[in-house]
Amino acid sequence: MTTSNLSPRPRPRPNTASNSPSAGTGDLASIVDSVLGGSLAGIFERMDWAEDEIKKARARHPKHSDRLYHSFLLLTPTHERMATEFVYRAHCRELLDRVAAGADTRPGTAAEVCCAMLEVTLRTPIRSAAFGLYLRMWRAAGFPEYPEFAEWSVHHEALDHTTIDDHEQFARRKLAVADRRLGVIDCSGQHHGDDVSCVYAASQHKLAS
Ligand SMILES: [Zn+2]
Repeated sequence: MTTSNLSPRPRPRPNTASNSPSAGTGDLASIVDSVLGGSLAGIFERMDWAEDEIKKARARHPKHSDRLYHSFLLLTPTHERMATEFVYRAHCRELLDRVAAGADTRPGTAAEVCCAMLEVTLRTPIRSAAFGLYLRMWRAAGFPEYPEFAEWSVHHEALDHTTIDDHEQFARRKLAVADRRLGVIDCSGQHHGDDVSCVYAASQHKLAS
């Protein structure tokens, strides 16, 4: 079965013109599947991406550099689509920024919501607000931008902003990973084999998350 066979057909929507962004859900599924379908990576390559995202996050948040160094285990892939580089990197980036902000790392990331939405759109038509959520999460994750995505997103946000908010809250909660949180950090005093003055080396700190 080809992707086009799986592509959803938009549901009719009252007061919505046939050339509205809703009509693009099938197109979106095709684009997404073609983009996400390529460039599968092995576990070691993915580990390199995770380490690279940690390095970048430490540069973005130097005050939390040690905590970010010890965040590797939070970056366990949760979806097969994370074999695609930009999907997994976006997932890592959001989690690492949460670590730096002291925010909860358990709720689903924008990348995770996109992965889930892709599965849905390949199987069934979705309503306008759900499609709006997909577009919002796609852009929040920093996935490749397509001109029509911005246009569709503006349209759906104007129509369904509040409902999309509710959907986002629900999706992130539904996709939460219960044990994805920093616990006690036990540092040996070495990072990548080099002696360091890590704040977690002298004593253990239980991090709230
Ligand atoms: Zn350390």
